[in-house]
Amino acid sequence: MGKKYVYSFGGGEAEGNADMKNLLGGKGANLAEMASLGIAVPPGFTVTTEACNLYFENGHQFPESLWEEILTHLQRLENTLGKKFNDPSALLLVSVRSGARVSMPGMMDTVLNLGLNEETVQGLALQTSDERFALDCYRRFIAMFGNVVLGIDGEKFESILTQKKKLRKIEFDTDLTPQNLQSIIKQFRAVVKKSVKKEFPGDPMAQLKSAIEAVFKSWHTPRAKTYRKLNHIPSDWGTAVTVQAMVFGNMGPSSATGVAFTRNPATGEKKFYGEYMVNAQGEDVVAGTRTPNPITELEKEMPEAYQSLVNIYQKLEAHYRDMQDLEFTIENNQLYMLQTRSGKRTAPAAIKIAMDMMQEGLISKHEALTRVPADQLDQIFHPMIDPAAKKLTVLTKGLGASPGAATGKVVFTPEHAQELAEKKEKVILVRMETSPEDIHGMSVSQGILTAKGGMTSHAAVVARSMGKPCVSGCSDLDVDIKKKSCFIKGVPIKEYETITLDGSTGRVLHGVVPLIRPRLTSNFTRLMSWAGEVRSLKIRANADTPHDAFVARDFGAQGIGLCRTEHMFFDEGRILLVRKMILAEDSRKRAETLKKLLPIQRGDFIQIFKVMRGLPVTIRLLDPPLHEFLPTMPKEINILAKEMQVSQATLNKTISAMKETNPMLGLRGCRLGIMFPEIYRMQVRAIIEAACKLVKNGMKIFPEIMVPLVAHVNEFKRVREMIVEEAEEVLGKAQVELPYKIGTMIELPRAAITADEIAREADFFSFGTNDLTQTAFGLSRDDAGSFLSSYVDQGILERDPFVTVDQAGVGPLVKLAAEKGRSVKPDLHLGVCGEHGGDPASIEFFHTLGLDYVSCSPFRVPTAILAAAQAAIKHR
Ligand code: PEP
Ligand code: MG
Repeated sequence: MGKKYVYSFGGGEAEGNADMKNLLGGKGANLAEMASLGIAVPPGFTVTTEACNLYFENGHQFPESLWEEILTHLQRLENTLGKKFNDPSALLLVSVRSGARVSMPGMMDTVLNLGLNEETVQGLALQTSDERFALDCYRRFIAMFGNVVLGIDGEKFESILTQKKKLRKIEFDTDLTPQNLQSIIKQFRAVVKKSVKKEFPGDPMAQLKSAIEAVFKSWHTPRAKTYRKLNHIPSDWGTAVTVQAMVFGNMGPSSATGVAFTRNPATGEKKFYGEYMVNAQGEDVVAGTRTPNPITELEKEMPEAYQSLVNIYQKLEAHYRDMQDLEFTIENNQLYMLQTRSGKRTAPAAIKIAMDMMQEGLISKHEALTRVPADQLDQIFHPMIDPAAKKLTVLTKGLGASPGAATGKVVFTPEHAQELAEKKEKVILVRMETSPEDIHGMSVSQGILTAKGGMTSHAAVVARSMGKPCVSGCSDLDVDIKKKSCFIKGVPIKEYETITLDGSTGRVLHGVVPLIRPRLTSNFTRLMSWAGEVRSLKIRANADTPHDAFVARDFGAQGIGLCRTEHMFFDEGRILLVRKMILAEDSRKRAETLKKLLPIQRGDFIQIFKVMRGLPVTIRLLDPPLHEFLPTMPKEINILAKEMQVSQATLNKTISAMKETNPMLGLRGCRLGIMFPEIYRMQVRAIIEAACKLVKNGMKIFPEIMVPLVAHVNEFKRVREMIVEEAEEVLGKAQVELPYKIGTMIELPRAAITADEIAREADFFSFGTNDLTQTAFGLSRDDAGSFLSSYVDQGILERDPFVTVDQAGVGPLVKLAAEKGRSVKPDLHLGVCGEHGGDPASIEFFHTLGLDYVSCSPFRVPTAILAAAQAAIKHR
């Protein structure tokens, strides 16, 4: 027997289970699991992701034996149900649904009601004694199949439907009569014939085969690709395809379809939460074309089905030990489950759910820590509207679908959102409803506002997973894209007007509104303290100002890993002095200006040391090429010339002489300190004098002086000598004992390769993974922006190496340097201060190398703390 590509489920048993997500996709695996648990799921079978990948490898051909296997399982399904494909007297209809390993909401395709044609539709009408229902299924099927399989623009079908409703003065699809539907079907079939020059295919077998192929192919639609890119999902996973007997939520007033969450996905509150729509099919709810009813009303409307749903959701949550996102259909009061999966949630909800479940005894402390996605943790600092703000103009209220507040200019299309975002404008995307095609525009907007759709609409689900504020189901809103305007309670809001969304309460406000950062919850504090118990990596922060240092310490940073002193030089009040110092004719003149800079620098360090007292503070000596500080505008050059009492022409000459062809690899880092020793000496003096002053006041200060861009041990030796000389002089004079350290950044391949030589001289290493990535790739970080994202799009690079450390090429340099360094100094202190220090995937890697700490921007500190704990749990 060949390879198995198809797995059946239903009738209390299944060939698959929940652990087979890689093969059966999340949907297929969980349907199998539910079937085995004895939960009512319509029977069916799942075609594996492996078959999907082979389909692409074979140049869009089914792998050998796949079709035969499908037919065998189809027969089994027919036998289970006593129904048959293409048999008008006992008709089997199926859905063909996509399902990847992880949920990609709405990104791939689905076909419902498959198996209908001119004859079987009549059989269905007879069988159910409901002609309207049968015709409703048929029109849905033609439109879906036409769009998904035959590639016809869905708008063509949609506009026929809308016209018919207008003509007959009908508000809802459900009010269409059989006659209306018949005429719609006729028009739909004509659209198909005109578009593909063939009749709508009637043979159910041919329908099935091409629908499965179309779902395979939907893995490569542009929106699926965008979604994968945003969520780092590899393109070689493929999708599984589930073929499942249809159950009908559109069979009249005792039928319905809905979606639900076992807990609130926006806040985490332990309360069953969902929406349903009577007499509807699945896509009606998610597409947001009608605003559905809250689940609480189902209890009154269909009490029995509601009770079964409650029993099932409790069973599923206990079984999976996680918040579940459910899809269900009620056919004539009988409940069927169509999907269960771990539900997407906001970061605040993730924290609350994890803490509650831990307390309920459902999960352990360690599990709770792994349940909160570290890279989404900064969502909890999302601004909210200042409760003290006065004179707010609330335009209207919709559903608070994704928390946080955002202000921006109104745009009506995703393309326009993208265009403006590229110009660094903040925008709010306003739509009647969003669809998966809008994802590129949603990802660049500050917030999303929709007129239709509930808490589980596409806009709501996607905004929550992106951590963006969203107000949905705002029934007072009407969008007129052609007029580039929208109306809220009839009042026009034009394109580019500024509005503010409050995704927590659903308020839509006019103009800019004062925002504040929310207070952190006790759950968050507890989570952080547990993370502290398990992680081995320490977390420091990159901070150049006392304010940054304060924020970092408040979030639990255990020191400063990088204080970039150049940022202090740019300060408005001192840039002129800095320029004079750089352009000084000779070292005597330079020394004069440095003397004036010294007390200013000392003041900077005093403030930072004070905030961080008791903790280490790594201060990096000046790094960037000096021309970065010089003026470029004639007006500024003129001011400087006057100040320096030289002619503008002379000054221009001096400035041009300092230009470098490739300053990133030019006179910067320790090369500066060697060529202009007086600059570094001033900085060292400022650091040590600042520390002495505070030590004399009884504070514990731990300065770590760091030398940037060392390539050769002799560079470090030279600079170290200078540092020691200067520091000892200050300390001797002050009669202070100070435990200061002198270390280096490892940010050039040569330094990594000769790290043993350097380690003999250095007290610590800090990996500058930004420069290390730049120099390992030979790719300037300032110029990479123009093509790096295209590299990722084309699959040449899996991720941007400046965001997530490149483990194959840059990682080994870090590893080598760490090993070589520790081979000569076993307790050499090792840290990372490049941007990667705040990236969870990189943090996991640094944990495995046994480094001592990572350092990241202050607001990333909680993310890094959690990521370090998760890495420790994973690699225990
Ligand atoms: C680095 O190169 O990783 C680093 C932290 O230094 P900078 O980004 O300032 O060059
Ligand atoms: Mg650097």
